[in-house]
Amino acid sequence: MEVLLAKEAGFCFGVRRALKLAERTLARYPRAFSLGPLIHNPQVVKRLKAMGLEPVRDLSEISEGPVVIRSHGARKEVLKQLQERGIEVVDATCPNVKRVQRLAQTASRRGYFVMIVGERDHAEVQGIMSYAEGETAVVDSAGEIPELVRGKRVAVLCQTTQEPEKVGSILRELFGMVTEMLVYNTLCEVTLQRQREALRLASQVDCMVVVGGRESANTRRLVEICRRIQPRTLHIEGPEELREEFFRGAKRVGITAGASTPPELIEAVYRTLVTGDFCGIKSQRIIWGERDGSKP
Ligand code: SF4
Repeated sequence: MEVLLAKEAGFCFGVRRALKLAERTLARYPRAFSLGPLIHNPQVVKRLKAMGLEPVRDLSEISEGPVVIRSHGARKEVLKQLQERGIEVVDATCPNVKRVQRLAQTASRRGYFVMIVGERDHAEVQGIMSYAEGETAVVDSAGEIPELVRGKRVAVLCQTTQEPEKVGSILRELFGMVTEMLVYNTLCEVTLQRQREALRLASQVDCMVVVGGRESANTRRLVEICRRIQPRTLHIEGPEELREEFFRGAKRVGITAGASTPPELIEAVYRTLVTGDFCGIKSQRIIWGERDGSKP
């Protein structure tokens, strides 16, 4: 079995930055908080917890600071409340997400109805929505566009990890309903690159393995994309979830990973597959994707 590793996989710069800021904070304080897990990776969250970073669900659970804001960002009123309570905030919101928040605010101030393409309950979307000062809607598919937008001036923004195809289909539908459409491309280039690479790799292998947290939106999206082209796609959080049956008869296996998956975890999955530690069958050949210059 050949094992191919996607060149663009794992931590993105936004996640790296959030981790660095959290670690720096923990070097200054014995204890800090994050509103929800800092990143969608259980192993990393566990490690940070051991260092003193406590993920909490609600502001009421925090009596003192500092509070690290995740790369997804937070709702505007949450930041305001923290400020009012005099709690130190370490803002690790990804600059890409910050830009979308700013655009939501500016567009609504200019009188646009703000429509966000994305997952309604996702923290990033909730945060972006909170910056819009007028009418808003979150739409996850073309069929979900509310009648409310008909005849209005609408500004469209996207959750950074959305797929361009989905955004395109929503825009086509919306075009016939509104008087003016202001579209901002707020898709994250890092995510797009990973999605393209995953698609390319999935078309070259007999099965795909996507490594990443089950709560991670961008990892789930990678799984969806790979499954479209390669139904034999396995979503795992770590090497212990690898099963021999899944790989039976496969000659080539591809590996990719979400933006919150640490390199050591990707490496562990890669090594486990290559050495056959989970099934006793050693891979015949190792291909290090394009990471060392070798082409599949
Ligand atoms: S996926 Fe993109 S937008 Fe999200 S944290 Fe990473 S760099 Fe930022």
